[in-house]
Amino acid sequence: MSDKPRILTGDTPTGSLHLGHWVGSVKRRVELQRSHDCYFIIANMHAYTTRLAKSAEIKRDSIGIVRDYLAMGIDPEHATIFLQSEIPAIAELTFLFAMLLPFNRVMRNPTLKTEIEVKGLGETYSFGFPLYAVGQTADILAFRPVGVPVGEDQVPHLELTREVARRFNQIFCGVDEHAEDEDHVKLGGAFPIPRADVGAVGRLAGIDGVNKMSKSLNNAIFISDPAKEVEKKVKKIFTGRQSATEPGDIHNVLFQYVRTFIKDPARVAELEERYSKGADLGDGHVKLEVAAAINELLEPMRERRAKYEGRDDLVLEILRAGCARANALAETTLARVKERANLVSWPRTLSY
Ligand code: ATP
Ligand code: MG
Repeated sequence: MSDKPRILTGDTPTGSLHLGHWVGSVKRRVELQRSHDCYFIIANMHAYTTRLAKSAEIKRDSIGIVRDYLAMGIDPEHATIFLQSEIPAIAELTFLFAMLLPFNRVMRNPTLKTEIEVKGLGETYSFGFPLYAVGQTADILAFRPVGVPVGEDQVPHLELTREVARRFNQIFCGVDEHAEDEDHVKLGGAFPIPRADVGAVGRLAGIDGVNKMSKSLNNAIFISDPAKEVEKKVKKIFTGRQSATEPGDIHNVLFQYVRTFIKDPARVAELEERYSKGADLGDGHVKLEVAAAINELLEPMRERRAKYEGRDDLVLEILRAGCARANALAETTLARVKERANLVSWPRTLSY
């Protein structure tokens, strides 16, 4: 097993990956993949919370996301990419961890509340929907990572995970309730208390300019979008500005994209200056520059993707090897947890 610090993060297959994923989390993963022992989970069970009747699409998108990872530069030689549903320890840990969290604490989670609202789930969501927040604590802790690279919306979920880890260590490993987070392992805790590692842009807005860019909200520029599609989508960004001489708001969505994707800081400063003064700089022009910058970012990704296009067999092979590695680690965690929680009466064997 690697002695590099371990990180875990992942994505739900509710569609393809978009620019929000890149800036919020995946870019960071690519930066860390050589210095860290990386585990990236495709949370396919969690997609059943909102796409139960579309399980074939979940399966298709699970493969699509791995293809997106490979396109973005994640290297399966360095990182372990795996499918949640193939890791039985995660399901077992979810059940136990559900006992460690007060019900109301889970339901108060602001990310769940926002999702219920923006995804129009109303009163009809399944019991499994809030359970996914508990499941996510197991997705993470099964791998005992020290850090979790995520976007801002995931911070409340990570806070739940930290609580589960602390509580488990206190109840079952005798760690004092006043212990500092960083001392838990030293004091005999089974879990390190993982930190959220939020990317440079924790919340990229969608092209609707209202919600965060999201797979499920029809406001995303996808990593797999062709250049023309990127231009078309950028043109749609709504700022409400009427003319090139009207002073513009540099905190609007268009300028978030300027700051995020245009690499030259001097050019960014110049655009901000002219836009805010209404110095004859139209939205149309800014959009052309933004689209060109995004396409420059996506071009090498398009090239890397080509190798895996139509080759689901290659992608499945990567997933399969990843699942074997992930299971080896998660089973070790589960064995340790069961031992601590008095759930072992004889050596585990599933064959009778
Ligand atoms: P869904 O609409 O199904 O919730 P999503 O687009 O929110 O999909 P997730 O799979 O929930 O994507 O999130 C995967 C990771 O990407 C998380 O770490 C999340 O914080 C990050 N992320 C998602 N959207 C954004 C965004 N717009 N800006 C920054 N980070 C993001
Ligand atoms: Mg989400």
